Amino acid sequence: MKDLLKVLQTWEAVIGLEVHTELTTLNTKMFCSCPVEFGAEPNTLICPVCLGLPGALPVPNKAAIESIILAGIATNCDIEQQTMFYRKNYFYPDISSNFQITQGPVAFCMRGWLDLNITEPAASEREYREGTTELPASYASSGYTTRINITRIHMEEDAGKLVHIGGTDGRITGADYSLVDYNRCSTPLIELVTEPDLRTPEEARLFLQSLRQIWLTLGISDCSMEEGSLRCDGNVSLRKRGAKELGTKTELKNMNSFKNLHDGLAYEICRQADVLESGGRVVQETRHWEPASKHTVSMRLKETADDYRYFPEPNLAPYDLSDEFVAEVRSRLPELPDEQRARFMEVYALSFIDASALASDRDVASFFDEGMAFAAAQAQELAKPFTNLLLNDVLASLNTSGHVLAETKLTPAHLVELAQLIAKDTLSSKQGKEVFAHMLKTGEAPAQIVEKEGMQQVSDTAALEQIALEILKEFPDKAAEYRSGKTGLLGFFVGKAMAATKGQGNPKLINETFIRLLDGE
Ligand code: ADP
Ligand code: MG
Ligand code: ZN
Repeated sequence: MKDLLKVLQTWEAVIGLEVHTELTTLNTKMFCSCPVEFGAEPNTLICPVCLGLPGALPVPNKAAIESIILAGIATNCDIEQQTMFYRKNYFYPDISSNFQITQGPVAFCMRGWLDLNITEPAASEREYREGTTELPASYASSGYTTRINITRIHMEEDAGKLVHIGGTDGRITGADYSLVDYNRCSTPLIELVTEPDLRTPEEARLFLQSLRQIWLTLGISDCSMEEGSLRCDGNVSLRKRGAKELGTKTELKNMNSFKNLHDGLAYEICRQADVLESGGRVVQETRHWEPASKHTVSMRLKETADDYRYFPEPNLAPYDLSDEFVAEVRSRLPELPDEQRARFMEVYALSFIDASALASDRDVASFFDEGMAFAAAQAQELAKPFTNLLLNDVLASLNTSGHVLAETKLTPAHLVELAQLIAKDTLSSKQGKEVFAHMLKTGEAPAQIVEKEGMQQVSDTAALEQIALEILKEFPDKAAEYRSGKTGLLGFFVGKAMAATKGQGNPKLINETFIRLLDGE
C-alpha cells in the first residue's frame, strides 16, 4: 500500500462528512412517547406510531426541535424558521412503514461553519493541506486554522437495527438469516452534512472530535460511537493538486471510532491514488471499512442517485418558528469549547496548547474551573502549576487506569493544594509526584500526606547554610573557579546540597545560599 504522505504530494484529498447524532438525552422518541433507551430487550420500546402502522398519527417532540436549533446556533448555522418534514420512501426491513420521516431541501439549520485549530505537532499530514512537502517552521509551534463549512443540519427519525446471523462478516451478504429490532425506530436523529472542505484524514478526525465536544457541551446526546449514537460516513475523492474540479467520490461506512474514520479515509485515499495512477477511474460507490484487515470493500455501486420519491409528510404541519422561540433557545446556549479555550487563555494566561487541552474535555474543563474557584484569590498564580498537574499527572494516571476523572479519589480542592505546595517550594516537583501518587491511592489531602510521610522540603536557612559551607570547604578549587567567572558551577554545588539533603532541600533556597556565600565577599 502507498504511503499517505507521498500520495498527498501529488493528489489533493477532498473529504466531506455526514454525521448522524441520536438525541439520546431526550426522554421520548421523535413522534411518540416511547422511551429513548439503549440496550433494552428487542422490540419492547415500540408503539403503533414508531412502527408506522396505518392510521397512527405522529406528534413532534418539542424538545427535539429545541435540540436541533441549539445545535445549529452552536455551529453558526442560519436557523430556517419555515421548514417542514418530508417522507423518504424506501423498502428495507429496518423500517416497518417503508418511509423515514426526514427533511426536504430546507432543513432547520443551513449554511454553518466550524473553525478547526490544528495544533498537534505530531499530526504529520498538516503540511499537505497547502501542498508543501516540507514542514513550515511556523506550523510546528502554532499549527493552522481552517474553516469547514456546514451545508445543513436536518432532523429525522432513526431506523431500527438489523442483526445478521451466520455468514462470514456480520453483514447481510452471506448471512443465513437476519433479525430486526425496532426499538431504535423513530429515535430523534440530527444529520449534519459538511461541504467537501476537509483535506486530510487528520482534519476529518479533528472535525468529528470538535463536533462531539460541542454536542456534549449542549447536552443533546451522549455521543457514544460504540453504541452508535454518534455515527459518521466519510465521502472522499482525489484531484490533482491545483485542480478546481471535484473528482469522483466514494462513501465510507462503518467509521465507528475516530481511529476508524482516520484510518479508513487514509486507506481510501491511497486506494484511489492507485486506481488513478494505473490509468483506471474511481467508481462512485459505497464502501465498507474493515478495521481488522485494514482495507475497504465495495458494498454497492451508486452510479445514479437513489430515487426516494421525497414528498411533504402529510401528517405533520409545516413549521413557522417564532422569533421568540428561537431567541429563547439561543439564550440557553452554554459556553462552547472554543469560547472556553479563549477564556482560559485570557483569564489565566494559559498557552493555546494548554487551554485547548483543557477545553477539549468537558470533565477536565469543569475540574479546572472548580479548582480555580477553590484557589480564589490565588487562581492567577496557581493556574499554570494546577494545569500542569491536571494535564500531565492526572491525565497520565487516567490513561493507565482506564478510569474517568469522576471515578478517582481526586478532588479539585486537593489538587489546588498540591499545586500550591509545589508553587511555594514546600515540595520539590519530585516530592509533588510522590504526594500525587498517595492522593490517588488514599484520597487524602496533600498536607496530611506530607505530614505523615515527613516530606517537608528543608527550607531551614541556617541548616542549609551549614550544608553549603561544608560543601564549599570540600571543594575549594571549584569555589575558586566559580569566583574567577565559571558561574556555571552553581549547578554542581546545588546538586551536592540536594544529595546531602536526600532530595528534600529547597532548591531555590539552596541556590540563593550558594550565590550569597560565593558572591558575598
Ligand atoms: P450524495 O448525493 O452522494 O449523498 P451529497 O452531494 O449529498 O452526495 O454529499 C454528501 C457528502 O459528500 C457531503 O458531505 C459532501 O460535502 C461530500 N461530497 C460531495 N461531493 C464530493 C466529492 N466529489 N468529493 C468528496 N466529497 C464530496
Ligand atoms: Mg446525500
Ligand atoms: Zn413509539
